[in-house]
Amino acid sequence: MTEHIDRLHADKILAALALAHPDARPELNFTNPYETLIATMLSAQSTDVQVNKATPALFRDYPTVQALAAATPEEVYPYVRSCGFASKAVNIVLASRQVVDEFGGQVPDDRERLTSLPGVGRKTANVVLANAFGVPAMAVDTHVFRVSNRLGLADAKNVEQTERQLMAVIPEENWNRAHHWLIWHGRRVCKAQRPLCGQCTLRDLCKWYQKEQAIAGK
Ligand code: SF4
Repeated sequence: MTEHIDRLHADKILAALALAHPDARPELNFTNPYETLIATMLSAQSTDVQVNKATPALFRDYPTVQALAAATPEEVYPYVRSCGFASKAVNIVLASRQVVDEFGGQVPDDRERLTSLPGVGRKTANVVLANAFGVPAMAVDTHVFRVSNRLGLADAKNVEQTERQLMAVIPEENWNRAHHWLIWHGRRVCKAQRPLCGQCTLRDLCKWYQKEQAIAGK
C-alpha cells in the first residue's frame, strides 16, 4: 500500500507541513455537530468564505436540527442561495428530517449513518466525523488530492485511492491534522493553477517540483 513512498520520507513531509502551517484548522464556522453537518454540506463546490457568510443568518433562524427539519426547502433556499445549487436547500432540510426521524435528533457519529443522509458523501462524512466528533478520518477534497499527489504522499488517480494511500502512510493520530495541513498548503501555497514553488518550504521534498526541475535540466 505504501510502496510509492517510504515512511521516513512521508514523515519528513508531514513534519515540514506541520512547521509550515502550525495554525491549520477548519476554516468553516460551526459550534456543534448540527452546524458542522450543515456547514459542511453547504461547502461542497462552494467556498468556506461563502458558507461562513450564509450560516450566521441560517443558524440564527434555524438554531437546531429540529427547527431546520420543520422548515421547507423554499423557506431555506434564500439563506443558502449564495452557496450554489438549490439542491443544497433540499438536502439540508431532508437530512435534518432524517436526523430527527431516524436518529433521535442526534447527528450520527459513524460513517454508515452519515452517508445515508441525502447529500452526504464519503468526504462530507469524513469532515463531520473529524471536526464534530474527533474521529480519525482522512477527508480528501480537491486540495488534499492535488497537494498530496504533487508532494508524493500519494500516487493515485482518484480520491478514493488517495484516501487509502494517505491512511496507510500517515499515522492515524495525525489524519485529522494532516487533512488541515494539506488544505492550508493547497489554498495558500500549492495552488491549483500556479503553485508558488519559489515560496514553498517543501520543495526539496516535493516529487512534482523535483520532476519539473529535472525536465528543465536544473
Ligand atoms: S514545491 Fe510546488 S508543487 Fe511542490 S508542494 Fe510546494 S508549491 Fe506544491
